Amino acid sequence: MKFDSFLGNSAAVSEIRQMLRGGRVPGALLFAGSDGVGKKNLALTLAKAMNCERRPPDGDDFCGECSRCLKAEEMLASTREDLERRRSLKDSSRRVEGLVYFDLQLIEPITRFILIEQVRQLRNVAYTYPFEFPRRIFVVDQAQAIHWQAVDLLLKVLEEPPPTTSFILVCPNAHELRPTIRSRCRQIQFAPVDESVLETLLATEGEVDRQHRTLAARVAAGSVAKAQAFNLAEFTARRKPWVEFLESLAGKTRGAASEPDWRRLFDSTRALTEKREELDETLRTGLMLLRDLLLVREAEGTDRIANLDLLPQLRTWAQKLDLARIELLKSGLDQAYRLQTRNVNQQLGLDALATALVQSPPQDVPVRR
Ligand SMILES: [Zn+2]
Repeated sequence: MKFDSFLGNSAAVSEIRQMLRGGRVPGALLFAGSDGVGKKNLALTLAKAMNCERRPPDGDDFCGECSRCLKAEEMLASTREDLERRRSLKDSSRRVEGLVYFDLQLIEPITRFILIEQVRQLRNVAYTYPFEFPRRIFVVDQAQAIHWQAVDLLLKVLEEPPPTTSFILVCPNAHELRPTIRSRCRQIQFAPVDESVLETLLATEGEVDRQHRTLAARVAAGSVAKAQAFNLAEFTARRKPWVEFLESLAGKTRGAASEPDWRRLFDSTRALTEKREELDETLRTGLMLLRDLLLVREAEGTDRIANLDLLPQLRTWAQKLDLARIELLKSGLDQAYRLQTRNVNQQLGLDALATALVQSPPQDVPVRR
């Protein structure tokens, strides 16, 4: 992807092109900011532009056709395959055997971490002359996942960067990196992409029909990658148990004279936790519904509400669920979110939460209208 076709974050893009034009790209850069806005793509674009033989006259892009641009593409394709291969290895001692001699290297977590051995290899290669390119470039994606025992190693390299090597660290939140690492890098900050930009993208790509584009853009919450991956059927299927959950709660909590529909409630918690690998996305969907619920309560208009198609239901739920319950629900989901990497039974957690929500005494906090 060339710089001109990059969507959003125009300030960051022009800062990078400015560096290229002036031939002043620092040896260590840090691209930080929201997920899915294209930081890694942009880092790779910059890496190609730094090595391209036939840059455009302004010198701030790559050509995509010269032998080095083609070679860079090849290296990336092999690196991606290599990372997949290493991730799938059962024998952990062999995960460290990888492609280490490329002049364009993409370093990503192989397990939950970027391993010490990966950083050790990076350091060893960094101090040798590049093999085929004038500059060797390491793009370290998910830099926050560098194993804590490897951070000092990386720091040493960043303190005395070899003259023919550049580093581009990529991470969602710069504050997750150690200050000593941060201070060695020139930081470029990325922001979520505007809803209007995402809607235009969706209109151009034509995968999402017109009446669902605003929904898709809002659910994507500033992420180009999420907007492109939006699938209405999948989204509504993931959201459905939340709708059931909130329906059953809202139907029974206020001054409940009759027993709540426990079966429906527990069916929904089971459905929510059925697919463990999707739990992260499921919890995000629930948290987004709660945020919408609060926005509806605050009667702030509809321009920030993501689940626009559920507006009538959201209004009903907001009438019936008091603020205390919404807050209880929010903290319950936050806790589930924190616990998701541990081996806990999330359904039990959600069942307990549902029970607490039904049994907590109603508090009549009037809804502002
Ligand atoms: Zn080129």
